[in-house]
Amino acid sequence: MLIDTHCHLNIIIKDSFDTPLADGFEKAAQALITEALASDVTTLINVGTSAVESANCVKIAQAFPSCFATLGTHPNDLTVTWKDDIKFYQDLIAQHPQLIVGIGEIGLDYHYPQYDKKRQYAGLEAQITLALDHNLPIVIHTRDAGQDLLTVLEHFKTDTLRGIIHCFSEDMSFAQRALDLGFMLGIGGPLTYPKNIVLREVFTTVPLESIVLETDAPFLPPQEFRGKKNSPAHIRTVAHYLAGLRDCSYDEVARVTTHNAQTLFGLLKA
Ligand SMILES: [Zn+2]
Repeated sequence: MLIDTHCHLNIIIKDSFDTPLADGFEKAAQALITEALASDVTTLINVGTSAVESANCVKIAQAFPSCFATLGTHPNDLTVTWKDDIKFYQDLIAQHPQLIVGIGEIGLDYHYPQYDKKRQYAGLEAQITLALDHNLPIVIHTRDAGQDLLTVLEHFKTDTLRGIIHCFSEDMSFAQRALDLGFMLGIGGPLTYPKNIVLREVFTTVPLESIVLETDAPFLPPQEFRGKKNSPAHIRTVAHYLAGLRDCSYDEVARVTTHNAQTLFGLLKA
């Protein structure tokens, strides 16, 4: 069995961002969950990117026992009222403690011009604090901001700080600092892209015990599905590819990465 530790079913099954799921959303979600199960993917973690989308992730988790949710506001989605999001997340955690397994995706993103660095820092720090207050792991998004991101995580390092560097796309020295912090590295479709030679070196070198699989669906499909919408079922493609790179069996990749995800998100007790 496999776990997709990072997908956005809530985004796949509707046409617009940041809008509530429409009535009857279950049908489209069920089709993707069934397709995933047929590919050995038994559990999906839907990751929030805003208050509205985080609430959608909880709705899906309420409807399907195989789905869990994380809550968070993405650095590019922090608005002037971002502090209200934190209050909203606190209320959701109180209402649905068994369905909410992490805080994310949160982080720093300097990719687009005119990003608000001060707001990104404040939003990230407040959401790390929220995670620590509730003993939840964090799902980190970082783009063109790696050194600043590591500095923030190193500042917050405690025995309970833990999480995933989602869509890992950095080099070996970054990976080592993330592992030293006790973080997992999340990998999906980009592992299979021809240009990502350094990425393949990293994922051949780091211990399997520090790797979790993710699709980021509908984004970043594996090479053979590029140009199409990604889907949680494609975790199996990533697992096979990783097994080939590491010269180990698919079963070993499945067993270890599933155990990593279950331990990190507390899924065994859920
Ligand atoms: Zn994502």
